[in-house]
Amino acid sequence: MKIQENIALKDFSTMRLGGLADYLAVINSEEDLLTVIQFARQKSLPIKVLGGGSNVIFTDDGFAGLVVINQIKRFEVESEENGYVVEIGSGEIWDTCVAKTVGLGLTGIEALSLIPGTAGGTPVQNVGAYGQEIKDTLVNLRAYDLQSNTWATINNSNCKFAYRKSIFNSSQRNRYIITKIRLKLSKSNPRKPFYKSVQEYFDEHRIDTPTPTDLRNAVIAIRSAKLPDPKILANSGSFFHNPVITRQQFDSLTVKYPDIPHYTHEDKVKIPAAWLIEQAGLKNCQDPSGLATYDKQPLVIVNYSARSENDLTNFKNMIIDKVFEKFKIKLEQEPETVHKTDG
Ligand code: NAP
Repeated sequence: MKIQENIALKDFSTMRLGGLADYLAVINSEEDLLTVIQFARQKSLPIKVLGGGSNVIFTDDGFAGLVVINQIKRFEVESEENGYVVEIGSGEIWDTCVAKTVGLGLTGIEALSLIPGTAGGTPVQNVGAYGQEIKDTLVNLRAYDLQSNTWATINNSNCKFAYRKSIFNSSQRNRYIITKIRLKLSKSNPRKPFYKSVQEYFDEHRIDTPTPTDLRNAVIAIRSAKLPDPKILANSGSFFHNPVITRQQFDSLTVKYPDIPHYTHEDKVKIPAAWLIEQAGLKNCQDPSGLATYDKQPLVIVNYSARSENDLTNFKNMIIDKVFEKFKIKLEQEPETVHKTDG
């Protein structure tokens, strides 16, 4: 394993922005991980672990530490009394794992098809889509604890999962490096009700009892029709969280906007951020630096030609300000911005 110096971070982020990393290493095993941790400790460097780079934004002044590209692989299926436990290396490409589980006829993560990035990133923000969330299937995960310098097995309940949230992106940010996740899946069909777009796909294809493969195909069709492929057009997927607001806030908004789309979320109300952005007049809005909201899905910021993260900051702040001006809802950024001295 080689530790390289002064590496362009734009090549490791799907938004294709960012300065240089002082050091960068690609790891393939837990042993490699321990080696790079030791290297970073000796030089007093912060560590940032990346999977596919699809949910991270680097600033123009780069990262004064060690960036670790995680390629730890593993995919093992164990049969259990009431289902199957799948153990996945955190550096596995997530969608490849979803395809494999669907190929085995297992349900539980097929609605998370085509989510970019690696398996290890999924518990961090409790990835979810079309009614499935990683918290519904995760049994436990293995991680290196940088605080106590020991390996830890963290059970589902200790991850403190909430909507797009866990201890790994909140109270314990930068403490653990996840190396394996274990999911419990079952050999059955996904259950109704399905999201409207998914149900429409099944109706159109005359599918009454969808299998995991049918649900995966539906999600792939829906996502491919409205999301840009980062290999072709730089982007970080959804750039903002779908806001969850209080019932009181929602009631006062409906006076002015009676048609506002919404979904009940525990005792609150979830509003599609894409709708707010579109209503603020920002669908397919381009700025001179080469950033734009995507025409088919304004929740995605695409980078046609921008070279500076500063341009992205200005563009996103303009969107946040305009949406706030109109709806008094403050959009929050979904991808993590990594600053030069983070960690
Ligand atoms: P969408 O399907 O247009 O939905 C927009 C919003 O409406 C989301 O907040 C979604 O909730 C909610 N929603 C739609 N139908 C719903 C239903 N039947 N019941 C409850 N809530 C409903 O969203 P999109 O932006 O195109 O994204 C498609 C899916 O991918 C969504 O599920 C979205 O959350 C997910 N996604 C996840 C991540 C992530 O995990 N980081 C990133 C991007 C997109 P939910 O958010 O609860 O689904």
